[in-house]
Amino acid sequence: MDADVVEIDGSQGEGGGQILRSSLALSVATCRPVRIVKIRARRTRPGLLRQHLTAVSAAREISQAEVSGEELGSTELMFAPQSVSPGDYSWSIGSSGSTTLVLQTVLPVLLTADGPSTLTIEGGTHNPFAPPFEYLALTLIPLLNRLGARVRLDLVRPGFHPGGGGKLRVSIAPAARLERLSLTERGKMIDVRARAIVSNLPLHIAERELNVIGRKLRLRGEKLAAEEWKDGRGPGNVLLVEMQFADVTEVVTGFGERGVPAERVAARVARECRKYLDSGAPVGEHLADQLLVPLALGSGGEYVTHELSSHAETNIEVVRRFLETAIAVVEQGDAQTLIRIG
Ligand code: ATP
Repeated sequence: MDADVVEIDGSQGEGGGQILRSSLALSVATCRPVRIVKIRARRTRPGLLRQHLTAVSAAREISQAEVSGEELGSTELMFAPQSVSPGDYSWSIGSSGSTTLVLQTVLPVLLTADGPSTLTIEGGTHNPFAPPFEYLALTLIPLLNRLGARVRLDLVRPGFHPGGGGKLRVSIAPAARLERLSLTERGKMIDVRARAIVSNLPLHIAERELNVIGRKLRLRGEKLAAEEWKDGRGPGNVLLVEMQFADVTEVVTGFGERGVPAERVAARVARECRKYLDSGAPVGEHLADQLLVPLALGSGGEYVTHELSSHAETNIEVVRRFLETAIAVVEQGDAQTLIRIG
């Protein structure tokens, strides 16, 4: 076996799709071939689903990689990238698989490529267990832009699970070198607002969610917006609470589910918001895992989060397989954790 091939066990830790996406991003950025085995072994349907397969194709196209195992259901992949080619790309997942997770695979690499890129990705834009469009637009991308890149994200058309049919457009003006990020405080609270959106469902669902959110988070009427999206395919309902601070914006999301009362969806979201607000940490659970790869590939940084999720712990292990960059996890008082990269 080639000594330079990075071997990744897809069943480690969280054992989900993120191990694949991070490995692909790190492989392309470092130009090191990777073999990933037991892909998504801890999921009920292991192996590559459409979303993951599109992530593999996207990573292959931007790096002219040689790949074997690029098939639906595959649990093993060999991926050998060449050089990064920024440019105009379009990828269609062919299902309601998450467009934002496909973006998560290629974005860290294109942030420092030697030219701009424009990406169009079709599939789901609002999926459970994935960042919704608004999370990328308000939480993650402003931080990546603070590192020096210029990323712009547009929602061309929403796509909910399982109907799909959504479309994202992304333009990336890279930076020659990413700056270091320091995010240890939130800064002053600027605003908290909630949006409840329905697509091909009655508006009262959104209104009921907002009633609960308004009461539990003590938000006045003008901070609550019920919206109806007419251009989505199939039914969908998403509740988004945007908590804006001077240094970071956290977006907490809930999805309407058949058989689950709107009030229960909203109560769950309110609990998650409360947990974030009470923790005092600037970086929420999801951001803590999503910052790791871009910072490790850039000039590093440090950030404070509440408690480390298994996604974040697993992602740290994956980064360590590719890069020498030191990653320290320091428990601080008040249930806060500092992550220092480099
Ligand atoms: P699977 O787990 O089925 O393989 P997956 O490809 O969706 O699926 P995961 O490994 O579970 O992958 O990764 C999901 C990613 O989505 C993580 O980066 C996680 O932080 C992010 N995420 C999940 N829910 C949210 C949310 N509500 N807001 C922001 N990000 C989210």
